Amino acid sequence: MMTNLLRLLTFIILLGSMGAPGMAQPKQEVWYHTGYPGGVGGPGSGMSALTGPTKMPAIFEAILRNRLVEPGQIHTDSLSVTGRASFAPPIDLESLRAVHTDRYLKALFTGEPRSLAMSQGLPTWNEKIAEGWLLNVGGLYAASETALYKRTITANLGHGYHHAAVNRGMGFCTINGLVVAAKKLIRQEKAKRVMIIDLDHHEGNGTAESILGEPRIWNVSIYGSYMGGPLSAENNHVFHVRHDALERGRKRDAHYLAIVSDVLPRLIRLQDPDLILYQAGMDPFDGAGISRNALAIRDAYVFSLCLSLDKPVTWVLAGGYADLNTLVELHTDTVRMANEVLRSVPPGSRIVHQRASAYEWVSRERVITFPSWKLLVEGKLEVHIPERMSGWAVQEFMSERERVLREERLPDDEIQSVYRRLFVGKSSP
Ligand SMILES: [Zn+2]
Repeated sequence: MMTNLLRLLTFIILLGSMGAPGMAQPKQEVWYHTGYPGGVGGPGSGMSALTGPTKMPAIFEAILRNRLVEPGQIHTDSLSVTGRASFAPPIDLESLRAVHTDRYLKALFTGEPRSLAMSQGLPTWNEKIAEGWLLNVGGLYAASETALYKRTITANLGHGYHHAAVNRGMGFCTINGLVVAAKKLIRQEKAKRVMIIDLDHHEGNGTAESILGEPRIWNVSIYGSYMGGPLSAENNHVFHVRHDALERGRKRDAHYLAIVSDVLPRLIRLQDPDLILYQAGMDPFDGAGISRNALAIRDAYVFSLCLSLDKPVTWVLAGGYADLNTLVELHTDTVRMANEVLRSVPPGSRIVHQRASAYEWVSRERVITFPSWKLLVEGKLEVHIPERMSGWAVQEFMSERERVLREERLPDDEIQSVYRRLFVGKSSP
């Protein structure tokens, strides 16, 4: 039934796009390296679907099997893709040191101390896993650079970023690739401002801690589960959705989508970023009882909004603890929606909201029609916005972060040699 609904959605969109002037936009490009970790065993469901070897390769294989992305748009080392594009090198050390402490990075590169190397909660450490983290963040950076350059939607089929803080991992997140990529693009003057939109069910606490007081990077986290990050601030926008206030089903879906569509347009306009990094978390499905259809239209909305405001987007996988088949369906919906939006939403389109079924959207002659989710809720939005930190409190937070970075600093030679040792006998970096 789900598939039928998606087909219907696709049909509606195609119908709509027939009338649109044929401005072909660059197609979606994806990055994936078979070395992304993974690779640590375990059954293919529940929490293990995230830590085990199964989730990322399964999504990648589903993209190939269903021909969702053309081979020439797939940046991978995988020999199963004939005509593939070149894959990304591992992320450079300088970009990692701009976000994480040397002591933490050394633990990730060497596995010692083991408790710090495994602070994200993975069951083991080895060099291959360590290398995989760097390939993963390298892929994310390459995807974001391409999105900016080609003004399109790109994806990195990796995960494990937003809980990683300055000097430790957490919640299966090891390196905060979102912040690493954003800071690198800014340092290279490829972007002036970057927005991180985080729609994982869990609050992006590591991201918030890493960017607080850095006005060029904004974090927007709409979550159902608080993870201990800092309060709101000028560049940290956090919204705790009270999902339980509404019964599961159409009402709860519409409520969630009403909040997303209430928050995002004004913040994107306010910051006016050059690029959006979108954490397309799928754990609202199992964590908050949001339906597959709602998550698909959420992603269609986010992509349409970004394109209508002329913002390129790079999206990544995140959260999702259902069985593997469900996870693959949820995540490949994001791939499909990015394709649909690129196909049917020409530049200069605008979004209108009209009373309609919660899950229908149409794009016709530069007008993208989404449902009036707020009207469907027929009540107030159940969302808690934490109070704002004072300027003084932000300063305190920043100096504490600086102190940790300083105190955990190692001599350049020492950190460079452990980084290079990971790649001894290999072609890069
Ligand atoms: Zn999550």
